[in-house]
Amino acid sequence: MVYHKSIRLGENFYCYVWLGKGNNCNSSLLCNILRGERPHVLIDPGHIRNELGESCFDSLTQAVAEDGFKMEDVGLVIGTHSHTDHCEAVATVVERSGALVTLSLEESEFYRQAGKMHLPAFGAKPPQINPFFYLKEGDLSLGAKNKLAIKVLLTPGHSPGSISLYLEKEKILVSGDVVFFGSVGRTDLPGGSPSLLRKSIDRLSQLDVECLIPGHSTEVGNIIIGKQKVEHNFYMVKMFT
Ligand SMILES: [Zn+2]
Repeated sequence: MVYHKSIRLGENFYCYVWLGKGNNCNSSLLCNILRGERPHVLIDPGHIRNELGESCFDSLTQAVAEDGFKMEDVGLVIGTHSHTDHCEAVATVVERSGALVTLSLEESEFYRQAGKMHLPAFGAKPPQINPFFYLKEGDLSLGAKNKLAIKVLLTPGHSPGSISLYLEKEKILVSGDVVFFGSVGRTDLPGGSPSLLRKSIDRLSQLDVECLIPGHSTEVGNIIIGKQKVEHNFYMVKMFT
């Protein structure tokens, strides 16, 4: 059963929007951008199985396969933050492909110290995340084949080390759980901070964005496409945060 909708946003960029009934995040695949045998980058692999028993990771694997790509060819997994509904399947991707894993240093430290406390809220075991390197604010240098320039922005608030990814040329923003359609990520989990979230949202709203991929689709099955819609969404979100 495939619960993901694939949206191609560029030659090397696919977004996989979660369409299931239970909780899971949206995922993205940056294909053929790394040198070597495993050229794909996967952002937020999500749950293996969610609270309703939906096979989230099998669905993602199948959706990716339908676009002609294999999980075995993922060379790097990026976590926007360490929550289980974004990172439970990280270890499975690593098992299949030997991919390296990265998230921000701030998030790694939080995850190690306190992050596991929030997990009962998601009804799942702690994800296994062993970062090979840490994401820092600024350009992400992947030894990429000059196909995609990716900027990392530290956008704490939902989680202390949440990051967003910005592709300036393509005007794509992957916001993790910082901003959704008409709403924002929760700040009541350990490490959450409404004031930091407001600052992060202000910052993201300054960017020139044509396509916003939120961590979850509150409007089922959709991402936010069109500069005006993105701006309107930030306007709405700021009113309520
Ligand atoms: Zn989260």
